Amino acid sequence: MFDDLQELYQQVILDHCKHPRNFHEMPQPTCSAQGQNPLCGDQLKLFLRTEGGIIQDVSFVGSGCCISKASASLLTEAVKGKSPAEVRSLFDQVHDMVTTGRGADGVGKLTVFAGVHKYPARVKCAILPWHAVLAALDGKGEPVTTEREDA
Ligand code: ZN
Repeated sequence: MFDDLQELYQQVILDHCKHPRNFHEMPQPTCSAQGQNPLCGDQLKLFLRTEGGIIQDVSFVGSGCCISKASASLLTEAVKGKSPAEVRSLFDQVHDMVTTGRGADGVGKLTVFAGVHKYPARVKCAILPWHAVLAALDGKGEPVTTEREDA
């Protein structure tokens, strides 16, 4: 049972890696942010369009490993229609999940990344797009990097 689940999770990640959703530049984003993970070579740029306190549209471009791409792809699906406060709370749950392996009720499909905690080098790949989305919402002009103490 557990192996089947692992396999399913891997298939979801592979699918999003090979066919990333919302993978394009956005002409007129409300905010955007770049993220990089020097340890792995992942780079991405995230675009957001917010209106009335809700994220109406989100997209990304970039290159990197399968985990970072799949994480960004699933992130775009997860944050659409949410408020910045909801995204922050989701970040905390995802961060907790990928570092401890503990599932969280509110993460939905993102639970496919729970197994990442077994591979510490991959945790930063999975969390990179989440740092980028917070940076975009905070309006930070500087690219964010996973190589920070709080990363
Ligand atoms: Zn990576």
